[in-house]
Amino acid sequence: MTETGSHQRSGTADSVAYETRSLCPVCKKVIDARVDREGDRLVMHKRCPEHGSFAALVSPDADGYERSLRNNKPGVRPAYFATDVHEGCPNDCGLCPDHQQHTCLALIEVNTGCNLACPTCFANAGAGYNLTLDEVSLMLDAFVRAEGEPEVVQFSGGEPTIHPQLLEMIQMAKDKGVQHVMVNTNGLRIARDPVWARQLGELRPIIYLQFDGLEDATSIALRGEPLVQEKLQALDRLAEMDLDCVLVAAVERGVNEHEVGALVRFGIEHPAVRAINFQPVMHTGRHGSFDPLDRVTIPEVIGHIERQTEGMFVASDFVPVPCCHPSCQSVTYAHIEDGQVTPLPRLIDVDDYLDFITNRTWPEPSHVVKHALEAMWSSSAVPGSLALAQQFCDATCNIDLAISASDVAKQVFSVSIKDFMDAYTFDVSKVAKCCVGVLTPDGKMIPFCAYNSVGYREDVREAMKLKRAGERLARRSAAGHAGV
Ligand code: SF4
Ligand code: SF4
Ligand code: SF4
Repeated sequence: MTETGSHQRSGTADSVAYETRSLCPVCKKVIDARVDREGDRLVMHKRCPEHGSFAALVSPDADGYERSLRNNKPGVRPAYFATDVHEGCPNDCGLCPDHQQHTCLALIEVNTGCNLACPTCFANAGAGYNLTLDEVSLMLDAFVRAEGEPEVVQFSGGEPTIHPQLLEMIQMAKDKGVQHVMVNTNGLRIARDPVWARQLGELRPIIYLQFDGLEDATSIALRGEPLVQEKLQALDRLAEMDLDCVLVAAVERGVNEHEVGALVRFGIEHPAVRAINFQPVMHTGRHGSFDPLDRVTIPEVIGHIERQTEGMFVASDFVPVPCCHPSCQSVTYAHIEDGQVTPLPRLIDVDDYLDFITNRTWPEPSHVVKHALEAMWSSSAVPGSLALAQQFCDATCNIDLAISASDVAKQVFSVSIKDFMDAYTFDVSKVAKCCVGVLTPDGKMIPFCAYNSVGYREDVREAMKLKRAGERLARRSAAGHAGV
């Protein structure tokens, strides 16, 4: 058992304060870290022998963090491990046999290029590579090997819609049995290219649309350009095609915190939108300097939602997602009908059902409710899907809402907040239970926060550069031989 394995086994993130391992934000070396309670806050402290001491805010609400640990569901190990344990977490991804959770959602980054140059781009998009269909096929096969019947694949980038073969890749994922295919996009091609957008629409993917606010000042600060009109155009096009969409809003200190409530209201009212996902910005890639003790967190975003929606959603409506570490993501669902918004946790005690510490036995029909809630509070829950609508109906089967899954598919709205870790907040005891992975061209699965913080993204880019250079050389050499 590696040193990291012993950290995981002792479950160090299961109580506050605790010791764990993290990264030096400068050299990315794995170093010891300690999370301390300081007043109401939880703060990570660590020291790199070469680059000195670092402190970062883990949570502004230590009590809430501690309560959320009840929602830590035991993981289900993957069926296949692509790597062995050598150096210890997070340098053995993956997944390696120390990983504690299978992958609910896998990303495939089909390219590195983009039609924007966002100053905050965590992927550091730019020149690099386009994956081939054969490479994507191999990656999908790796996911099928690990998961059997994979639930969700999300095509991402760079900007995946500028890849010339994205549509074939979506079809390929469906042909290989992936249940739900998502496209993670800035929406510009959907707005600008109606012919292509119609072809995309025929494949019925779920669209994860970058949508940070309704003010151009927000767009300029986060994306470098005023894009609100084009984003609205893309959304209207999705509505015309009856495609389901999740709005994805990066939340940046001092930029768009005041827009959070307006975004929730906008999402509820727009016919294409089934969910909104807020993501405090990740401080990786191109993101500039910041104060790690003043970063945006999940409890803070929930506070904004409560205040700015005037109680449409309140803090107690949000419940941590149990399949990953519960501090990674909080979600709520609401039933929307004729402008009436009814958050599900006001109808049933979701927290109680998702308490994995008390571990109660639930008789029928409460067992059905628990099962449905576990599926909804998972990274594989897909907004707008019939499966989610059925789960919503099962969850409310004790309550007379008089709804059926087909009615409810467009009446369920979810609001979620994801707190991705960067090198400042990185915690091996959380990443080892990650259920969101990035598939790499060599068939590995790298937990998303490790991919972006440890150096895996840079390694993949370098490996692809060398691979493409080798392929060019081979082509030239073959052409030379043919000429002889
Ligand atoms: S994050 Fe998971 S796969 Fe990666 S090294 Fe840690 S335990 Fe292994
Ligand atoms: S954040 Fe997204 S849209 Fe912006 S440059 Fe990066 S990949 Fe492109
Ligand atoms: S990607 Fe990061 S924040 Fe999301 S589940 Fe994995 S470790 Fe947690």
